[in-house]
Amino acid sequence: MKTIYVDNNATTAVAPEVLEVMQPYLTAEYFNPSSMYEAARSPAEAIARARATVARCLGGVDPEQILFTGSATESNNTALFGTVQANPEKRHIVTTAVEHPSVLEVAKELARRGQDVTFLPVNRQGELPMEEYVRALRKETLIVSIMMANNETGVIYPVAELARIAKETSAEIVFHTDATQAIGKIPVDLKTDLRHVDLLSFSGHKIHAPKGVGAVFVRRGTRWRPFMIGGHQERGRRAGTENVPYIVGLAKACELAVATVEEEQTRVRALRDRLQSTLVAKIPALEINGREAERLPNTLNLALHGVEGEAILYELSRQGICASSGSACTSGSLDPSHVLQAMEVPFTAIHGSLRISLSRYTEEAEVERIIEVLPPIVASLRRLSPFWDDKRNCLKV
Ligand code: PMP
Repeated sequence: MKTIYVDNNATTAVAPEVLEVMQPYLTAEYFNPSSMYEAARSPAEAIARARATVARCLGGVDPEQILFTGSATESNNTALFGTVQANPEKRHIVTTAVEHPSVLEVAKELARRGQDVTFLPVNRQGELPMEEYVRALRKETLIVSIMMANNETGVIYPVAELARIAKETSAEIVFHTDATQAIGKIPVDLKTDLRHVDLLSFSGHKIHAPKGVGAVFVRRGTRWRPFMIGGHQERGRRAGTENVPYIVGLAKACELAVATVEEEQTRVRALRDRLQSTLVAKIPALEINGREAERLPNTLNLALHGVEGEAILYELSRQGICASSGSACTSGSLDPSHVLQAMEVPFTAIHGSLRISLSRYTEEAEVERIIEVLPPIVASLRRLSPFWDDKRNCLKV
C-alpha cells in the first residue's frame, strides 16, 4: 500500500535537490569550518553562500542578520530569551494564546521569572481581534511575539500591520514573528512589507530540508543578546560547531520554497479547496476550523463532531494515510489542542479535530483517495458515539 502523506505541517520529505547539495559536506568536505587549514575553506565558504541565499530568499536583507540554529524551537527561544536578557529593565510581553509551544511555553516561563505577559485571545475563526491587540500594547512593552501562520489551523496573522502598529506605539518595541509555517506558502519579505519585524524564526524541516536545522533573522540594531554561548561561531551570536550540510540544505530548501510559493497559491490551494468542499458535502455536520479566516493554502483543519481524532487517525493510518489530530507536538497528551480551545471549538468537536496538510508533492489522486476513504470512517465511528444520533444522522442536542 502506497503511503499518502498529508501531514506536511508536522514535517516534510527532504527534496532530492536538497539532499544532493548536502551530500559533499557529509562526506569529502567534512572539515570543521573554523579550522585554519586550507581544506576547511570549502565548508566555511558554503556557510557564507548559504547565508547569502537565505538572506536573498527573505527579501534581500543583509546576510549578516541571519543566524543558523538547530530548529525553529531554538530560534524562538533565542529570540525571546535573547531580547529579555538584553533589556532587563523592561517587563511587558505581548503574545497570543495560539502560538506554538516553543513561544507559548517560553512566554509562560518568562512570566514565572517576573515578566508581565499578555496572552491575546482569538475569535471563533482563530483571528486576532485588532482592538484587543492595540489595547494590549504599551509604550514600555518589551517584545511582541505573534506567529505569521498557525500550524494547526493555517490561520494567517497580519504580521506586517501588527509590526507597524507596534512601532507606532513605540519604536523601542521589539517585534518577533514565528514564520515556520509561512515560508514557502505565503510571501515573506523583510525588506518591504515586513520591514518593521525585528526577529523572525523558521525551520528547515517544514520546507523540505532535514529536521534539526533552523534560522533566526535578527535585524541590525535590535537590542538582543546571544542565547547560545560558549563559542565564536556565527560571530559569537550562536555558539556550537555549524551543521554545514544541513545549513547548505536549508539554503537550497529556501530557494525552492520561494520558487514554489506560486504553486502553493494555485495548485496546492485548489487541491485543498476541492478536499474541503467535497468533504463538507459528504460528511454531515462537518465544520472547518478557521473557515472564514485567511488561511495557508495547504492546510485544512476539520471539526468532526462526535468522533475521536485518535480513532480517525488510526483508521486512516490503516489505509496508508498519514494525517494529524490537532498538532503532532501535543500528541502523547490527552488535553485538547490549546489552539482549538482558544477558538472555543465546541466540546463535541474539539476531540475530533483532523488536520490535513498538503505539500507541493501532493497529487490529485491522493486527495481523491482521502475523499473516498474519510466519509465512511467518520460514519462508522459516529455510530459508536454517544453524541451522535445515528437515526437522524445529526448531532444529538
Ligand atoms: N513554530 C511552529 C509554528 C511550528 O509549526 C513548529 C513545528 N511544529 C515549530 C515552531 C518548531 O519547529 P522545530 O520542529 O524546528 O523546532
